[in-house]
Formats: sequence, structure tokens, C-alpha cells
Amino acid sequence: MERVYIGLGSNLAEPQKQLRTALLALDNIPATQLAAVSSFYSSDPLGPADQPRYVNAVAALDTALPPLQLLDALQAIELGQGRERKAERWGPRSLDLDILLFGDRLIDEPRLQV
Ligand code: ADP
Ligand code: MG
Repeated sequence: MERVYIGLGSNLAEPQKQLRTALLALDNIPATQLAAVSSFYSSDPLGPADQPRYVNAVAALDTALPPLQLLDALQAIELGQGRERKAERWGPRSLDLDILLFGDRLIDEPRLQV
């Protein structure tokens, strides 16, 4: 098992509800348990300023999945909650799930940097 920290963010389609739904989905990832959740924080958007404020939180998970399988699971949750991949960087999104820490690993792969 590895302890993993996930950054959650949303600024579309009822952001608090998006985060609550995502936390349930994180706990349902195979070989993975949700261990702890931070408070929800309201934050200014980074990048384009003409978008709604974000709701952000951090979740701690314990997982037996390897990093790229966890990333696949996170991206499936994003897509399941209506995330559209757009060319604009840092644009508005219904759900963003980022791996902040994966144990103490340093990961530098095309799809995943930690
Ligand atoms: P951002 O989170 O920077 O706004 P996206 O959520 O659109 O951008 O993710 C873009 C790509 O970032 C994903 O397709 C994923 O492969 C890659 N990526 C690289 N490192 C990470 C990480 N630590 N956590 C999540 N995605 C990552
Ligand atoms: Mg992301």
C-alpha cells in the first residue's frame, strides 16, 4: 500500500456536489481506500480570470495500484463527471483530479509527473 494525496478541483456544474461525488468515486477505486479529506476551500482561478471561482480540497488515499493505473482511474472519474478536455490550459472544468504525492516516489513519465 502507498499513501497518495489527490488534489480535487471544480468550478462548473455545482462544484461542491462534484467534489462530494468524486470522493465517493475515489473510495470505490479497486484496491484503494479513502483515508482522509481536507476542508473544502474556495479559491480564485489561476490562468484565465473570466471563469467562476474554484472549490478545492485534498484527499488522502491508500492504494495498491501502480501510479499509471491510479491515473487511469482518476481520468475515468473525471470523464464520468462530465470533464471535457479542451485545448485551453487552466480553463474551467467540472472536475480535476491531480496526483500531488505518490508515497515518496519521483515520477517523470509522459503522462505523469509527480
Ligand atoms: P491540469 O490539471 O494541469 O489543469 P489536466 O487535468 O487537463 O491539466 O491534465 C493534463 C494531463 O496532465 C493529463 O492528461 C495527465 O496525463 C497529465 N498529468 C501529469 N502529471 C499528472 C499528475 N501528477 N496528476 C494528474 N495528471 C497528470
Ligand atoms: Mg489535472
